[in-house]
Amino acid sequence: MEGIVLRRIDYGESDQIIKLFLKETGNISAIAKGIKRSKKRFPHRLEPFRVYDFTLRKRKPGQSLYLIQSADQIRDFEEIKEDIRKIALGNFILEILLIAVKESHPHPELYDFVLKTFRNLSESEGIFPLWFYVAIHVMGFLGFSPNFETCLKCKKPLQKTEKNLFNPARGGLVCQQCATLSKTDKTSVTSEALGVLQFLKKASFPAVPRIKLSSQTRTEIASLLTNFITYHLERPLKTLPFLQEVLLKKK
Ligand SMILES: [Zn+2]
Repeated sequence: MEGIVLRRIDYGESDQIIKLFLKETGNISAIAKGIKRSKKRFPHRLEPFRVYDFTLRKRKPGQSLYLIQSADQIRDFEEIKEDIRKIALGNFILEILLIAVKESHPHPELYDFVLKTFRNLSESEGIFPLWFYVAIHVMGFLGFSPNFETCLKCKKPLQKTEKNLFNPARGGLVCQQCATLSKTDKTSVTSEALGVLQFLKKASFPAVPRIKLSSQTRTEIASLLTNFITYHLERPLKTLPFLQEVLLKKK
């Protein structure tokens, strides 16, 4: 069964409990017996940013923990590990999957999107737009697709000239006229940021790394998406402060 590694926890002296995201079945937990010792069954340690073909077996009927009998490496996105910014973004994606994909709940389209993200991440230098693009679309695959086109209240197309306000809970914006009626929609969005968000929502991967973003827009969108993701995943992500640190401080 094809899949990627989300998290590894040492278990005893030689085993690891590994959380996997599988193309066909979503997240599962599995034990890799002897992985820290046996080079026979596991010639390599199981690493993130690699794709494996796993042979899995249920340990006992009714038990949710699987046993990894073997893992053959299919693909390696090794370039991600050569750049701290790429590692930070990769880990951010893995954390979202860990939190938001349910056990044994298949997400084949999300799986394919994650592999495309790893490929683009390993080949591309435009990390910022990729971060925003991936955040918007991964959340979309998980059922929280944000709306950057029309006002949440009056449903009219948003005008970039107006002062629109973002509502993380509802994953969208309200226009200037509707915003005056509400006290909850607090984050105002600049026209430049709105244009970028609208573009990223519709774009496909090849167009993404070429987008140029001012440092102000980077900070603005990073904050808006952080609020959006944190609200819907119902917790702050551990990987986000580090991602923001390595990306926002760098020119
Ligand atoms: Zn409106």
